[in-house]
Amino acid sequence: MTTANMDKKILKKLEALEKKEGALAGPLDFYRKLLSIQLDTKRHTGKPRFSLSPETINERINAGRPLLEFDKLPVDWSLFEDTFKKIGALFASYSRDGAGTDWKQLSAGSSLKEAARAWFEGAPPSFLMAESNANTTLWEHVIQAAFNPFLVAYRDSIYSQVNQEYWRRSYCPVCGGSPDFAFLDKERGSRYLVCSRCDTEWIFQRLACPFCGTQNQSSLTYFSDDKGLYRLYVCDECQCYLKAIDLRQTEDEILMPLERFFTLDLDIQAQEKGYKPVAKARDRVGAEEGREDQYKKANINQ
Ligand SMILES: [Zn+2]
Ligand SMILES: [Zn+2]
Repeated sequence: MTTANMDKKILKKLEALEKKEGALAGPLDFYRKLLSIQLDTKRHTGKPRFSLSPETINERINAGRPLLEFDKLPVDWSLFEDTFKKIGALFASYSRDGAGTDWKQLSAGSSLKEAARAWFEGAPPSFLMAESNANTTLWEHVIQAAFNPFLVAYRDSIYSQVNQEYWRRSYCPVCGGSPDFAFLDKERGSRYLVCSRCDTEWIFQRLACPFCGTQNQSSLTYFSDDKGLYRLYVCDECQCYLKAIDLRQTEDEILMPLERFFTLDLDIQAQEKGYKPVAKARDRVGAEEGREDQYKKANINQ
């Protein structure tokens, strides 16, 4: 499904839900507002002039290097800044922590581009903090949501050329981000991971933890609901969890980005059991050659 079609279907589904229930629940209402800002940005971005040769794509995929590199992205930074401010204001209006955040100061001059780079390349959040009085998690959420329309546009122009079978790594083949959702496909029950940053879907082995890589079956388990539609994968080695949906258990059309918001209960359950969503610092590990050491250092300093 193209991204534009997906967006339209999501908005339609939210509209139908609103009609049925009188009003949208808080998180869904928030998501609809976020989506409309992101759609506006997508419209302005249009079809980006971004491509990679088949050779480059093969080379990077074989070497385990994600396709997008920050310095090669044709980002319209004034459009990014505009998107960032709108999304910052939306987050601020929905979160206690964001209310006093000075997003204006943050977006002044070139610092926003550098902050986006730090986020994209997985630099320690302390860098971001020096630029702003916002709390780190909120900051990352806002940057991520503002960058998403751009990443998705670049992804759409290259991803069809990627051979899934040659990747099978725990981070996104397009942007290097970590997965925050998964699904088992209808045909064979193969497990696909979904990127938290650019929504790319890629195939990954079922019997391994996508975060620490363990294949020790006594450490890996999942919980599921009565219908067997949703799963919560947990790993006792790294204490991380991953939400998933089993597409073999439903005839409905599933809109993956929306599922994140339909399953917020699962996040609460997982965290009550002592598991955490994947550590941010582990994002992008191995995304670029030689960067692994840098991450380790960053972790120690935190
Ligand atoms: Zn990605
Ligand atoms: Zn693990």
